[in-house]
Amino acid sequence: MALTGRWTEVSVLVGLAILIIACNPNRNSESELVLKPSPVFNSDSAHEFVAKQVAFGPRVPASEPHQSCGDYLVSSLERYGFEVTEQVDSVASFGGVILPLRNIIATYNLTNPKRIILAAHWDTRPYADRDDTLKTIPFDGANDGASGVGVLLEIARTIAANPLNIGVEIMLFDIEDQGRPAYDSDTDDPEHYYCLGSRYWANVSKGHKAEYGILLDMVGAENARFTMEGVSMQYAEPIVRKVWGIGNQLGYSDQFRYNRTSHIVDDHTYINEIVGIPFIDIIHYDASTETRFWTKWHTHEDDLSVIDRKTLEAVGQTVIQTLYNE
Ligand SMILES: [Zn+2]
Repeated sequence: MALTGRWTEVSVLVGLAILIIACNPNRNSESELVLKPSPVFNSDSAHEFVAKQVAFGPRVPASEPHQSCGDYLVSSLERYGFEVTEQVDSVASFGGVILPLRNIIATYNLTNPKRIILAAHWDTRPYADRDDTLKTIPFDGANDGASGVGVLLEIARTIAANPLNIGVEIMLFDIEDQGRPAYDSDTDDPEHYYCLGSRYWANVSKGHKAEYGILLDMVGAENARFTMEGVSMQYAEPIVRKVWGIGNQLGYSDQFRYNRTSHIVDDHTYINEIVGIPFIDIIHYDASTETRFWTKWHTHEDDLSVIDRKTLEAVGQTVIQTLYNE
C-alpha cells in the first residue's frame, strides 16, 4: 500500500510537470543542463566596444576607417592575452573589383585539444541598398557587424580575467557584407559575393579541428529575436539546442525562440559546407519583413541608437555560460 501511495505521489508530480511543460509555448524538449559557475557578461562594456567601432566610421574594405578599426581590434585582442594572426590577401568581388582582405583570428589556450570557435564579421556594407534614400552611401553598421564584434571583444576581456580551460578561437571575418546591392541585383547570380572572408578562411582550413562554432550576426538591436535557423539546424542541431537551452535557462526566453526558420546564407554556411565544423548562427529574425531580417537591415537606421544592452547581455551571457559549461 505504501508503494502504491508513493507511485500515486510520483504520478501526480509527473503529471504536473508535463502540464507545466505543455503550457509553456517556448519550451525546450531537451532536459536542462546543470549550469556551472560562469563569469558575468558586462553589457555596458560590450556597448562601449560597439560604440568604439562605429566611431571610426563605416568599416568599408579599402577605406581608412576599415584600416584603423582593424588595428584597434587586433590591439584589443592582444591586450586580452589572445594571440592574433591576420589573413591578408585580396579577393575578387562582382564587376571585376578586387578587394583587400583582412581576416583577424585571435586564439586562446590552444594547447587544449577541445576548441570552440566564436565568429562575427567586422566589415560594413558600403551601400544602404534597403533604405528608401541615399542607397549608395554606407551606413554605420552598429548592429550589422559591430554588435557581434562588440560581444566577442567583451567575451575576450572576460576570459582574460577568468581563466578558461578550453581553447577558444575568435574569428573576425572581413568582406562578409560586400555582396551585390539590391538595386544592381542579378537575382540569378549564384556567387552573390557575400561572405568572401569566411569562404577564404574555409577554403584554406579544410581539416581544421574545432568541436563547434558560434556565429553572431545582428545581435544588438532592441527586441531582437533569435530563431533556430535552418542551416544551423541542418548541420549543428545539437549545438543549437544546447545554446538555446542555456539561453532559456538563464532567463532569455524572449530572445532565444524555439521556432525553426528557413536557411540563411551567412559565414557559418560555408564553414559547415567546406570545413565540416558544426557551426550555428545567432542572427536577428523578424517574421514581419519581406526578407525575414531585422527591419532596419541595410538602412541608415542601423546606427548606435538601435543598440540595446539587454540584447547584448542575452547573447553575451548565453555564449559565456556555454563556454564555461564545457
Ligand atoms: Zn549585412
